[in-house]
Amino acid sequence: MRNRVINGRFIVRQSRPSMGRGLFAAIPIRKGDFLLEYTGRRIPTSYADTLKTRYLFELDEEWTIDGSRRTNIARYVNHSCAPNCEVQLRDGKILIFATRNIRQGEEFTFDYGDEYFEEFIRPSGCKCSFCSRSRDIVPA
Ligand SMILES: [Zn+2]
Repeated sequence: MRNRVINGRFIVRQSRPSMGRGLFAAIPIRKGDFLLEYTGRRIPTSYADTLKTRYLFELDEEWTIDGSRRTNIARYVNHSCAPNCEVQLRDGKILIFATRNIRQGEEFTFDYGDEYFEEFIRPSGCKCSFCSRSRDIVPA
């Protein structure tokens, strides 16, 4: 099961230390390419707000996608403050696109947004490659 290629394009494997697993490019991806949909059960947002899972993606005030099923490989896409993908909501679907050319072997990331960042990331510090790099810079 290690480094199994999914749909000819994706590999799920360990990401940076303490980040858990991530989703990586099995082939080079071009800027603007559609990558995959964040899939899951549609649940009322008011109910979603009572759940503890991290794999919730709010569509609007009424509906949220619960993406915690393992078949939703988009759930492995980690947050970055300098991402190479973006999410677009179209017709109630959560679609992930590349915002620049992505090399084979590079990890896919998108910006999870302010609400998620404040609740889940900021308390223990952001560990994305961008923030880790800026922490390494010693102020003059
Ligand atoms: Zn960051």
